[in-house]
Amino acid sequence: MRLILDWDGTVTERDTLHMVIERFGDPGVFHAMEARIGRELTLNEVIEVEMATITAPFAEVLDWLLDVVTVRPGFAALAAEHAPLIVSAGFRDLILPVLERERITVDVVANSLEPDPSGWRSVFLEREACAVCGEPCKRVALAGGDSFIYVGDGFSDRCVSLVAGRVFARDGLARWLDQRGAAYERYDDLNDVRAALDARPSA
Ligand SMILES: [Mg+2]
Ligand SMILES: [Zn+2]
Repeated sequence: MRLILDWDGTVTERDTLHMVIERFGDPGVFHAMEARIGRELTLNEVIEVEMATITAPFAEVLDWLLDVVTVRPGFAALAAEHAPLIVSAGFRDLILPVLERERITVDVVANSLEPDPSGWRSVFLEREACAVCGEPCKRVALAGGDSFIYVGDGFSDRCVSLVAGRVFARDGLARWLDQRGAAYERYDDLNDVRAALDARPSA
């Protein structure tokens, strides 16, 4: 089974969108919008509004992010052994430079940014709305392929985690799966995931 990783809060120790919005955007908008995800607004709609509060030059934001963002321990070894695919609700523009810094090459499925002094624009991958959650979610992104192992931490991982062959969860995703009584394996860092895959390989 192919290994699929969420990016923000899963590979990275902190959510990089939260980080850049806190530092360069409008944290007030951020906190107001987060409460509306999955209620009256889709995740993409919320991200779009939040990112539009950033007006700083892209290079300034990226330089700052590369100084402060950390990846979870075990990422390099997990990537080397399992050639994961990263599927993110965030942006390639903020993911690929971190991978380059870490000298790790993996495939990435994510949205793109058009930074603009009047507010950064989000350009989302075109995807149908999911029949289950109603959003253009990661379940749709991975539909039609083989069974997969999924590693996540948050809202964007909920729907897809219910169809994965095997799930690793932490933080909000783990709490959500607990509430539903759904099975998963808990991880803290990515060494935990690699050790579990070594101990019980999945076909
Ligand atoms: Mg996440
Ligand atoms: Zn869905």
